[in-house]
Amino acid sequence: KSKETGRNCHHFFNAIMLDDVLKKRELIDDLRSSIVNNEFELYYQPIIDLSTNKIRKAEALIRWHHPVRGMVPPLEFISVAEEVGLIVEIGEWVARTAAQDLADLKKLGADEHFQISVNVSPIQFKDGGQWMSHWFEYVAGLGLSHDAIIVEITENLLMESEESVRSQLTKLKKQGVPIAIDDFGVGYSSLSYLQKMDVDILKIDKSFVDDLETESNSRDLCQIMIMLAQHLSIQVIAEGIENEEQRMILANLGCQFGQGYLFSKPLPLTLFKQKYFDDSVLSD
Ligand code: C2E
Ligand code: MG
Ligand code: MG
Ligand code: MG
Repeated sequence: KSKETGRNCHHFFNAIMLDDVLKKRELIDDLRSSIVNNEFELYYQPIIDLSTNKIRKAEALIRWHHPVRGMVPPLEFISVAEEVGLIVEIGEWVARTAAQDLADLKKLGADEHFQISVNVSPIQFKDGGQWMSHWFEYVAGLGLSHDAIIVEITENLLMESEESVRSQLTKLKKQGVPIAIDDFGVGYSSLSYLQKMDVDILKIDKSFVDDLETESNSRDLCQIMIMLAQHLSIQVIAEGIENEEQRMILANLGCQFGQGYLFSKPLPLTLFKQKYFDDSVLSD
């Protein structure tokens, strides 16, 4: 009897795996056409100066409007896009669109120091940095300076030993592109690399902010990361701030910037503009 059940389970399991494979194939096909069909959109989440409560930057976050499935969150397709290399094309679209949108916001009166950050996948550094070719001409053509678009990478990329990856990072730095370390504190990085690579911004991972009000441990870790950033003269952004207590604790610890649902969820460009770049907001 148990053997029977076992065999059924086995078949059942195979069916699920096959189903997964088919679903993935379908997802890859859909991703391919999504680029051509213009199904992507960038949402923007404000990054707030915790001492003045003013917006200083924004993070561009991709959204995929699938014709049948509706909105597909990035966590469901970015890793597949990375696996099959489509992230290179998608990433280039993201960077260029963010730059166009920023140029647009500057016309609406965004501060000259206002920056947009984009997430750049490690794969985009591994294909020889295709997205970087013509990048500087592109931003210059939009009237933006090289430091207007921040490149967010994960800390693991900093430790990458591949020469081409390192030389691309160095090239970005030399050209004045700010580098932010995303999800800081959960990956592997050595402190000396932060300095050696002359990182500009640390983004404290949301997991440290989540239980900040209740866990003294999280609070200590946030404090250490903020102090580290201060010592290295690196800007620091806390991610995933959801309530007032968290905001207050971080501000008291000297954290310069914050991002999270407390301030705003990521918004489509039109809503983002209305909320933050409306004439009445700019005049304050
Ligand atoms: P990330 O770069 O760490 O982005 C922050 C994520 O946290 C975003 O999720 C944002 O919506 C979410 N978030 C922000 N504040 C809060 C909060 O207070 N509470 C909660 N629960 N969540 C908050 P999203 O947009 O779903 O993106 C997830 C991840 O997908 C990003 O994490 C990033 O790793 C990746 N991603 C998004 N857009 C792109 C892109 O254009 N290119 C690449 N390569 N990756 C992207
Ligand atoms: Mg990010
Ligand atoms: Mg993050
Ligand atoms: Mg993340």
